[in-house]
Amino acid sequence: MTALVDTFGRIHNNLRISVTDRCNLRCTYCMPEDVTFLDKSALLSFEDITRFVEVAATLGVNKIRLTGGEPLLRRDLPSLVKMIAAVPGITDIGLTTNGLLLANQAGALFDAGLRRLNVSLDTLDAGRFFELSRRDGLPLVLAGLRAAKRAGFDPIKVNAVAIRGFIEHDAVPLAQFCREEGFELRFIEYMPIGADVWEREKVVFAHELLEWLEAGVAPLAPAADYDPRSPAMEFEYADGRGRVGIIASVSRPFCRSCNRIRLTAEGKLRNCLFALDEVDVKPLIRAGDDAGIRAALLANVLDKWEGHEINSAKFVKPLRTMHAIGG
Ligand code: SAM
Ligand code: SF4
Repeated sequence: MTALVDTFGRIHNNLRISVTDRCNLRCTYCMPEDVTFLDKSALLSFEDITRFVEVAATLGVNKIRLTGGEPLLRRDLPSLVKMIAAVPGITDIGLTTNGLLLANQAGALFDAGLRRLNVSLDTLDAGRFFELSRRDGLPLVLAGLRAAKRAGFDPIKVNAVAIRGFIEHDAVPLAQFCREEGFELRFIEYMPIGADVWEREKVVFAHELLEWLEAGVAPLAPAADYDPRSPAMEFEYADGRGRVGIIASVSRPFCRSCNRIRLTAEGKLRNCLFALDEVDVKPLIRAGDDAGIRAALLANVLDKWEGHEINSAKFVKPLRTMHAIGG
C-alpha cells in the first residue's frame, strides 16, 4: 500500500477532522470573542468527510479524531461516527469536546462506535472557568463527564491547558478529581495558536506540573508502557491509582514522530497545526475525484516541514486560530 510518508520518513496514519468552527465557549487561548463563523453551506457534509476518509484509509490512515470548534454542535454527530467506523481500515475513532453538550449525546456516541473520548476542562472553579472560557458551563461539563462514564467510555481523558496564573490553582484539584473519578488527566502546554497574546512566561512546563502533583497529590513515576515517541509523556501514581499525561508541545515538541494530518471544517488539508499553507480538497471531494484526493494527500505530506518553530525567532503564527483549524 502506498503510504503517506514525508521527506523525514514520518508515516502519517492519524487524521484529525474538524466538523465545525463554531463553539459554545470562547476560550481566550483558542479564539477571539468576536468571530465570524463559516457559513453552514461551506462545511463539508458527512458524506464529503466519509469520502475523504475512505481515500485516506487507502493510504494507511487508520486513526481518526473528530474535533472543532465544538464538535457536539454539529447535528447528529453519532451518524458521522457510524459512517467513519464502517470505512475499511479505520480502527480507531476519537472525539475531543468541551463536554457542554455531552450529557445528552454520550450514549448515542458510544453506541455509534466511539471509544476514545477527551473532554477539555481547565478548572473546577466556576469563576476561573468563566475567566478562561468567557462563558458559564462548568456544571454541564461535569454532567457530561458523569454521563460519559455511565455510557461506558473507559478511559476518559480530561485535557487541561496549563497557563501560568491559572493552572497553579487548578493542577492539584483537577488531579485529585480525576483520580477519584477514574479519569486520565492530561496537561497541554499553552501554545501560540489563539487570538490572545501568547507569552513564553505563561507556559507552565512539565517539570513544574510534576513537582506540584508530587507535593499535592501523590508520588509519580514514568508509566511502564510509556512510548517516548508519543505526544504525551505518561506518568503513573506510585500507589497505582491513576495516571497523568503531559503534552509538552512547546518544551518538548513531538514533531520528530508526528503522524498527524488535519482536515478543516470547510475542507482544507493541513500537514501541521502550525502550517502556513493549506490545500483545498473540497472541489476534489465534490467532483468524486479520488485520484485527485490521493495526489493532494501525498503531495501535502511530502511538503511537510521538519517541525514547528515555536522556540525560534523564525516562528510565524498561522492566520487561523485554533478553533478554525481543529485542535
Ligand atoms: N472544543 C473542543 C474542546 O475544547 O475540547 C475541541 C476543539 S479544542 C480547539 C481542542 C483542544 O485544543 C482543547 O483541549 C483545547 O484546550 C486545546 N487548545 C486550544 N487552544 C490551545 C492553546 N493555545 N494551547 C494549547 N491547547 C489549546
Ligand atoms: Fe471552543 Fe474548544 Fe476553543 Fe474552547 S478550546 S473555544 S471549547 S474550540
